[in-house]
Amino acid sequence: MEGNRGEGRKDRPCPVANKCGGCRYIGMPYAEQLRQKQKTVEQLLEKYGKINKIIGMDVPEHYRNKVHAVFDFQKGRGIVSGIYQEGTHHVVPVEQCLLEDRKADEIILSIRELAKSFKYKTYNEDTGYGLLRHVLIRVGHTTGQIMVVLVLSSPILPSRKNFVNALCKLHPEITTIVLNVNNKRTSMVLGDKEQVLYGKGYIEDRLCGRTFRISPKSFYQVNAVQTEKLYGKALEYAALTGSETVIDAYCGIGTIGLAAAGSAGKVIGVELNQAAVKDAVVNGKLNGIKNVDFYQNDAGKFMVQFADAGEKADVVFMDPPRSGSTEAFMDALLCLRPKRIVYISCNPETLCRDLEYLTGKRCRNDAGASGTDAGKRRERGKKVQEAGTAGNYRVEEITPVDMFPFTDSIEAVCLLRI
Ligand code: SAH
Repeated sequence: MEGNRGEGRKDRPCPVANKCGGCRYIGMPYAEQLRQKQKTVEQLLEKYGKINKIIGMDVPEHYRNKVHAVFDFQKGRGIVSGIYQEGTHHVVPVEQCLLEDRKADEIILSIRELAKSFKYKTYNEDTGYGLLRHVLIRVGHTTGQIMVVLVLSSPILPSRKNFVNALCKLHPEITTIVLNVNNKRTSMVLGDKEQVLYGKGYIEDRLCGRTFRISPKSFYQVNAVQTEKLYGKALEYAALTGSETVIDAYCGIGTIGLAAAGSAGKVIGVELNQAAVKDAVVNGKLNGIKNVDFYQNDAGKFMVQFADAGEKADVVFMDPPRSGSTEAFMDALLCLRPKRIVYISCNPETLCRDLEYLTGKRCRNDAGASGTDAGKRRERGKKVQEAGTAGNYRVEEITPVDMFPFTDSIEAVCLLRI
């Protein structure tokens, strides 16, 4: 991939591409990027069912509505903000990024300058001294609302009123500023404690005709334009008629479930992150949706309890993190036997592994699985087979959606039916 990173190219669109490593496909025409992703999905998943053409973007740049910058002090440069060099904790200064929202990048540069004039010290990871660690910005794609999260090592920001006023004066489009305290020696960006310095402490965005509240710690898809298309496909696959009981597993702030609720009998959302569940409950109310309940729980545990209680579900949306789902979740799913499973995945490899489980087929990538893992899997598989439920699902179709142009990340939505 070296040759694709724009190194040594005169027209290279990013001066830090080789150090950052995020844009594996930089310098490659967008149509070619889409072809590569299509090929990857086909190679990995074609054996399960039909792969549709990848849904790309019309304008594949500056799509990231969530932007993160780490702050550091460097000799000769002073305060810098940017990204960690790939695989290291060395900070590479970044002024603007091909993927990130332009306004968010401008705000980060302003914070860099203000930090200098307010004489704030940046946090030093080695010594644990210093105040300013990270800045996180979230932009509501349709509402234009902007949230700035200042991640500090202490809750005390000197001259905070003046700082907030100065930042809002430079960028009146900022709607809220939150101070997040992270005093741990960790690579996690956000700490536990939060304090609202300005505005409401969250932003709202509109998606699929609904309004969503997004708090600093909640997951929200980073590419709003493509999320509309992804959810559109997911809803099409669900083929709801108005009477179904629907589970939205790994639901985040409830986006998919709330988008589906108008065409379902009832929706049950489950999510582990407490802040996200709180947002989901508020989002239900905000949109006047009454046929939806959200639960804070591990999705696997919830599904097992749900199946054990003899409850029924007609359609299950599942949108797990990169690591994919769990066998506990999928065993419960196979016992529940919903008519349709709509699996949204941001990692085709774990999607492949999970489809193998749900359809009872072997995954080529798993050939090297350790004996113990393979043994465990066989045993669980046997249990489900004894229950007469395994391998009954078939993949009807898979649609890749390019949520992350210029990177090698691939998103796909998959319809499974009994
Ligand atoms: N469907 C949502 C969120 C998808 S991201 C959307 O489209 O916006 C995956 C979500 O799974 C995250 O919100 C994460 O907090 C949640 N999650 C991770 N592990 C989980 C688990 N074990 N049980 C339930 N939710 C989990």
